[in-house]
Amino acid sequence: MTESNFDFDLIVIGAGYGGFDAAKHAAEKGLRVAIVETAEMGGTCVNRGCVPSKALLAASGKVREIANYDHLSKFGIHTSPVRFERAKISDHANNLVLNIRENLTKTLTRVGVQIIRGFGRIEQHQKVGVRDKNGIDQIFSCKDIIIATGSSPFVPKGISCDGRTVFTSDEAVKLEWLPRWIAIIGSGYIGLEFADIYTALGCEVTMIEALENIMPTFDPDITKIAKKTLVQSRDIETKSNVFATKITPGCPVNIELTDATTKKIIENLEVDAVLVATGRIPNSKGLNLGSVGIETSRGFITINDQMRVINDKKIIPNVYAVGDVTGKLMLAHTAAAQGVIAVENICGNSKEINYKTIPAATFTHPEISSVGLSENDAKEISKKDNFSLGIVKSYFKANSKALAELESDGMLKLIFNKDSGKVLGAHIFGLHAADLIQEVANAIARNQDVTQLATEIHTHPTLSEVVEVAYKQAAAQIK
Ligand SMILES: Cc1cc2nc3c(=O)[nH]c(=O)nc-3n(C[C@H](O)[C@H](O)[C@H](O)COP(=O)(O)OP(=O)(O)OC[C@H]3O[C@@H](n4cnc5c(N)ncnc54)[C@H](O)[C@@H]3O)c2cc1C
Repeated sequence: MTESNFDFDLIVIGAGYGGFDAAKHAAEKGLRVAIVETAEMGGTCVNRGCVPSKALLAASGKVREIANYDHLSKFGIHTSPVRFERAKISDHANNLVLNIRENLTKTLTRVGVQIIRGFGRIEQHQKVGVRDKNGIDQIFSCKDIIIATGSSPFVPKGISCDGRTVFTSDEAVKLEWLPRWIAIIGSGYIGLEFADIYTALGCEVTMIEALENIMPTFDPDITKIAKKTLVQSRDIETKSNVFATKITPGCPVNIELTDATTKKIIENLEVDAVLVATGRIPNSKGLNLGSVGIETSRGFITINDQMRVINDKKIIPNVYAVGDVTGKLMLAHTAAAQGVIAVENICGNSKEINYKTIPAATFTHPEISSVGLSENDAKEISKKDNFSLGIVKSYFKANSKALAELESDGMLKLIFNKDSGKVLGAHIFGLHAADLIQEVANAIARNQDVTQLATEIHTHPTLSEVVEVAYKQAAAQIK
């Protein structure tokens, strides 16, 4: 079959952030593109992830701020008790979802991407099958395929969800009601963001974590200070080193807790609702991957840094995968970046991704962010590669803007190579940490060193001076 005989140059399966950016970029490059979507356009981020959760965090963050009488009185501001309408907060999130979903769909149509509704699968080499909701099946030929099917919430064995009293983030973003007492299973970024939302809106939270300490995925020093503000100062009780082994929906919801070490049942809790935030699993079932020789690893599709699908170290021709289904830094901007890189490679421009430059943020109040290496990984690499490691900490309490805002709890930890001065990673907790991390991410992407970065002039008074101070401290350690 010659290229012109294909129905499309490229078929993208899944219209989440990864699929969207890939399809748009490919169409702008002049390829004939189709995108297959079985549910709502926009995928997790737009419909059930970043967009609605950030809308809820924005609204509940305002409630928290206005209800923080002690904090406001330090400015000499006195407010009356805050009133809020849950339904309107929920509408704000839903309207934003609709708006962004519509814009995204229009963008794809405008650039000439054909949207095919239905469940896609690979139908042997260079063919994609699509079954629509009426059961009508069609087969399309294409030169290249990008799998961008994303992920879904993981619900551990023993937990039954009814979507009303026991639910995942898919339902939580709708904010259909406010339980008086909610247990959140998992203390990763999704669990923390919802704890932020629920406590701001007056709910009591019990956070249950299977690992020894809560917030296990964050830098330990950042966790220490973040925990004080985000957990200990709020209506949050924590239980770590325990598994929620059985959860039965109802009124009340029953939770059986088992000690992670002894494996003995230690407690039965009765709460009004449970949010299960125990991670996400790849959407790779039903894709008929075996027809082109793809085997998954725990459901994730293995790729190389060009997004080409790999099996047993061999490239599967004409098949690429991007986004959560690949299990690499499961974030919207990772998926989007991978989508663009896949298309560049399809177009013959060899491009690779560098995951060390991709920042991550948790949009609590205040925020947590990170980029590059963790301290532990950096220590190991420095031993292996024989260089001396530098670590400096810069504090928000020494920053004029943070002090003016009366929000000076915060820290930036900068990890760098003392021999070359190159920035290796950063971890931040504090006001607008999600914005501040970008400067460090850019420095890593540009392979810049702290001696040079320390000379760059930052606006005064801004939070960016927290980064400047860290660069200056680091530069002082370079021989
Ligand atoms: C509550 C929450 C908050 C989040 N907040 C953030 C955040 O603040 N910042 C951030 O960067 N990330 C955030 N994320 C993560 C982010 O949403 C995901 O990393 C991102 O959506 C992944 O994009 P994707 O394109 O890989 O997959 P998805 O967005 O999951 O999209 C995949 C699409 O493929 C479709 N699909 C699946 N199988 C098929 C098939 N066989 N045929 C056709 N279509 C199919 C699905 O219906 C879906 O629309 C959040 C996630 C959650 C759950």
